[in-house]
Amino acid sequence: MNQNTNHQDRVFNFSAGPSVLPVSVLEQVSREMLCLPGAGVSILELGHRTPPFKKILSDTVSRLRAILNVPAEYDIFFVQGGGRLIFSVMPMNFCLPGTVGEYLVTGSWGDCAYQEALRSGQGRLVWSGQESGYSTVPSRDQWTSGRDAAYLHCTSNETIEGVQFPTDVDSLLENAPPLVCDMSSDFLSRPVDVSRYAMIYACIQKNLGPAGATVVIAKREFLERASEKVPGYCRLLNHAEGDLMYNTPPTFCIYVANLVLRWLEETFGDLATIEQFNELKSGLVYEALLRRPELFRLHAHEVCRSKMNVTFRLPTPELEKRFLQESEANGLAFLAGHRSVGGMRASLYNAMPIAGAEALAKFITKWVASPLAAGG
Ligand code: PMP
Repeated sequence: MNQNTNHQDRVFNFSAGPSVLPVSVLEQVSREMLCLPGAGVSILELGHRTPPFKKILSDTVSRLRAILNVPAEYDIFFVQGGGRLIFSVMPMNFCLPGTVGEYLVTGSWGDCAYQEALRSGQGRLVWSGQESGYSTVPSRDQWTSGRDAAYLHCTSNETIEGVQFPTDVDSLLENAPPLVCDMSSDFLSRPVDVSRYAMIYACIQKNLGPAGATVVIAKREFLERASEKVPGYCRLLNHAEGDLMYNTPPTFCIYVANLVLRWLEETFGDLATIEQFNELKSGLVYEALLRRPELFRLHAHEVCRSKMNVTFRLPTPELEKRFLQESEANGLAFLAGHRSVGGMRASLYNAMPIAGAEALAKFITKWVASPLAAGG
């Protein structure tokens, strides 16, 4: 599992997305950039209805189906427009007259999804962690659902706040409406029981590829609820039908996603193994932070600390600035928190090598704060 790079200039990339990709994938992309084997042209020039591209698309879908154990009655397809497109189209697809979409909001992205449903008056908030600054997740007895709910939307991992449901969200499911989950920032990072969801979606620029595509996994019967009056591109069922090419798909993104899936299979084999790897990496960083509580304050409550996005603060903005400057000078890049909340965020997606987590943990342990932090 040696994922170290030979390229001297590469730093450890802790960006929340677009984010680190496996070096072996980047190498293969660069080797094949002039000519994709068997195609005679590069992937950037290859028509989407050609046999080589159709093969890449169907192989990508098959690999996703296999690694996630997706039941036959679920469709898998890619759309453009990012996670935000799905926020916008959820109500128009699934809220039939007299129904609403329910939202369980554990962070900023869940709130964005909810705000989109409010625009058409079809959103209902069933729980929000806003008062606690989005630092926790609810238990099943903390919210109730109405009979008129078309779906319940949740976010398995809140990328900005670093708040993650501790396991696959099944504990939410007792007597819940069809569950729709935004898994953008922890997709493929741990096992998931797909059969418990009506729909899962994830923008791929964290764990699966470059920016430009969103993967959707949805139960056919759920997709069929959308009326034909929904505008063509926004009607998700259209993307699931036929050859999965309602319009020109993001071909390059799907090609890279295919290589990332192959890398995942070859390196880890299954999602339980990648989960262990992710626990190891985040464990190293959390342990280092917890060893110096006088300096580092973790944002999320212990039970829901994200394995993907470790969020923490220092006592003053000046110290945070210094930490960021010095970490960057040590080859640890993009550790600044989201612009809306500040602080620090270390994103440790699947492709972050163990060496990256170790280097960050070591830096945290050794970092010498100014006399200000020491109370002087
Ligand atoms: N959901 C989550 C959990 C995200 O982290 C993001 C982006 N960081 C989005 C949705 C929005 O995705 P996009 O920018 O691709 O629209």
